[in-house]
Amino acid sequence: MIKLSFVGDIMCEMQQTDASCKNGKYNYKSCFEDVKRDFENSDIFVGNLETPLAGEHLGYTNHPWLFNTPIEFAESIKDELGVNLVSTANNHCLDRGVEGLENTVRTLKELKLNYTGTCLKTEKNTPFIFEKEDIKIGILSYTYGTNAIFNKQYLKRSEKHMVNIFGEQEKKIFKYNIVSRLIRKLNRNREITKNIEGVIKELKKQVDYVIMCMHSGGQHNNVIDKYTLNLMDILRKLGVDLVIGCHPHVVQRGIFTNGFIGTYSLGNFFCTPGTSSSPIDKFSDYSIALHLYLEKEESLKIRKVTFSIYKTIIDNYKSSKTVLLYDLIKNNIDNENVKVLLKDNCTIYNIFCNSKYDKIELQKEYEIKLEG
Ligand SMILES: [Zn+2]
Repeated sequence: MIKLSFVGDIMCEMQQTDASCKNGKYNYKSCFEDVKRDFENSDIFVGNLETPLAGEHLGYTNHPWLFNTPIEFAESIKDELGVNLVSTANNHCLDRGVEGLENTVRTLKELKLNYTGTCLKTEKNTPFIFEKEDIKIGILSYTYGTNAIFNKQYLKRSEKHMVNIFGEQEKKIFKYNIVSRLIRKLNRNREITKNIEGVIKELKKQVDYVIMCMHSGGQHNNVIDKYTLNLMDILRKLGVDLVIGCHPHVVQRGIFTNGFIGTYSLGNFFCTPGTSSSPIDKFSDYSIALHLYLEKEESLKIRKVTFSIYKTIIDNYKSSKTVLLYDLIKNNIDNENVKVLLKDNCTIYNIFCNSKYDKIELQKEYEIKLEG
């Protein structure tokens, strides 16, 4: 049996980078020290790296569309947390331009941290393929777009393959282009299908199970937007087996059936709670880790699907830290606080499982029964 684990957006806001800097050296080791054990027996552990690692010479910032983070953060994701694959096709991958994207790819290669979704200009952008116990898994990573309208980092024709984009990169906005935008909207489904159909079909020939890391959705929004609902339908029709949604920064519902599993958003696995990009009142400090247990007899079988709820908290040193919500509640001595956390546990459970329980039993890991 193999175990696959997935977490949501791994953010690194400037407040965290400041808190992790001592005498000019960066150290993010404490951020994941309480949760590493939860992923130790995962064969694949995937997270969304929502920032370039463009290098210090390009400056560290986290202006809404200009992220750049020290490589020590990625080192911690790999060594302290245990992630062995990062999804890199996201709206921030071009925040420091093509140079920043290429620096990120080179850094991940040096760190020996697998990635999928972006590539060097001279490379082909390929899916990540993993094999164990005669089970072959293919993982793709695509984004709705980059932050091009804001940061003006438009890819040239010869660079378009460097980022997996479902449709096309955002176009420059001209004042009177309402008609062309409307036409593009009408053609969107065709454009997306045309772009990804061949890649998915080809991957399905090579592997037993196809996973798409889907970067899409309205940020800090519990309501799933039409574009993303549509995207999920297209991916399902094209034969993707599992969709891992990221980008909204809050937990959204999942679809759990025997033939298809689709999550719209796992939330922020790591963030700085209480900042504009991770507002606490929107539950942006909560997230889901999804685990799949697969086995192959004559064909591939899903033996079990489980999930755990995590929360990012700020410790006494103003540094963020991801903790298992179960642990946070069990170690809490403040009764009022425990009541709030138990209620949040139930809320996040209900959102993810699309259920309406008034109360749920506190567990480290919840099992999901697949329908159909
Ligand atoms: Zn994003």
